[in-house]
Amino acid sequence: MASADSLWGDDLREFCRRCLRCCYGTEMVLLREDIERLRRLGFRGFYEIRGGFYRLRNISGRCFFLDTVGRGCKVYRDRPSGCRIYP
Ligand code: SF4
Repeated sequence: MASADSLWGDDLREFCRRCLRCCYGTEMVLLREDIERLRRLGFRGFYEIRGGFYRLRNISGRCFFLDTVGRGCKVYRDRPSGCRIYP
């Protein structure tokens, strides 16, 4: 099945990079597959359990993966499922 990224290509990528609405004070819930994919890439400490769900961890009010210098998602191609469909 085609992903949202492949359907929208660069337009969606640019929209996502400008939006960043899910990236500050993120409450994003993670699926097991999201955690496994990001762990395979070598990331650790990016999630915690809140409200009974695995969620992205915030650091100083921003998602663990938000690059504050480049203002973008450091794992854009591998970002969690919820980030792909947000909002
Ligand atoms: S993983 Fe990326 S897109 Fe998702 S909230 Fe974090 S910085 Fe934003």
